[in-house]
Amino acid sequence: MMNDRLQRIIRPQTLAASAYQVHDAGDRIKLDAMENPYPVPAALRAELASLLSAAPLNRYPDPQARRLKARIRASFGLAADQPLLLGNGSDELIQIIAQAVAGPDVTLLAPEPGFAMYRLIAAATGSRYAGVDLNAADFSLDIDAMLAAIERERPAVVFLAWPNNPTGNRFDLNAVRRVIEAAPGIVVIDEAYHAFAGNSCVDLLAEYAHLIVLRTLSKLGLAGLRIGFMAAAGDWIEQFDKQRLPYNLGTLNQLAADAILARHELLDEQVAAILAERERLHTALQALSGVQVWPSDANFLLFRVTDADRVYAGLLERGVLIKKLHGSHALLDNCLRVTVGTPEENDAFLEALRTSL
Ligand SMILES: *Cc1c(COP(=O)(O)O)cnc(C)c1O
Repeated sequence: MMNDRLQRIIRPQTLAASAYQVHDAGDRIKLDAMENPYPVPAALRAELASLLSAAPLNRYPDPQARRLKARIRASFGLAADQPLLLGNGSDELIQIIAQAVAGPDVTLLAPEPGFAMYRLIAAATGSRYAGVDLNAADFSLDIDAMLAAIERERPAVVFLAWPNNPTGNRFDLNAVRRVIEAAPGIVVIDEAYHAFAGNSCVDLLAEYAHLIVLRTLSKLGLAGLRIGFMAAAGDWIEQFDKQRLPYNLGTLNQLAADAILARHELLDEQVAAILAERERLHTALQALSGVQVWPSDANFLLFRVTDADRVYAGLLERGVLIKKLHGSHALLDNCLRVTVGTPEENDAFLEALRTSL
């Protein structure tokens, strides 16, 4: 049945869009969303419980989240005066950037295959979007194609996920610099997987005034808190802050993140365990015939099989949920992506994979 009023009132972009799909894992082992498989360290549980139970929930949260910002600067080794903007996840920061520049003649540009939210948010905010294919063999930046597209499209924003999702690699730093130097607008380096990459573009902020660095606590182990941050020059932060809703980070989230980051070393232990498992999983996948796996600087591995639909269904049947990328981009033909889990989860995945190939 056609709802005429709805068709008349809702924007055409929204009518044409489909909602972001999140698969319900049910009882399955969940290796589809780059979550840290380990819970909040036991040493912190009691402290969090008393902290959160005393929280003044009758009051609005600190709209500037000053305490948490100071903690983030200290915890991630940023300068004490580094301007920051916090978001309800870095997804919200991507949306804030897109809203601040939006217009029918405005273009947002990103390499592909890449993080789907850049394209979805560009469409939702009424701007244009241009995707530039990566090199097929190793998913490195096709620098000539990137520079040509920047020249042609004059994008207001270039997004570079570094490491890239879903391919897992970091683009060559010299190529990144060439993109930054050629861009007529801002360049956003999205470091969602920073914890697993051991490298950052934060130092480039001093060199390039039109560079924005995004990070998130999600992949580090706090996906449920929904906290991301943007580091950039103060004049950019000031403009993007106007686009932010005043109380975007709840009191409980601010308190919990502050308390957990105060014990950053506990998260670092989890990261070390994930990195060791990433190597083990990579080696095990490499040993399977009919599987091609790429190196990863993130907490997931991209691999190719001969029939992704069959393997994906086989894994589901055997109780393991991963991400099927086949069909999402021409360069991801028969590709699947698995998040690094606990040793037990990874064993279960490998066992299910062997019998599904
Ligand atoms: C997961 C991810 C994000 C979003 O993270 P949230 O902070 O949870 O919104 C941003 N960028 C990339 C590249 C990601 O993979």
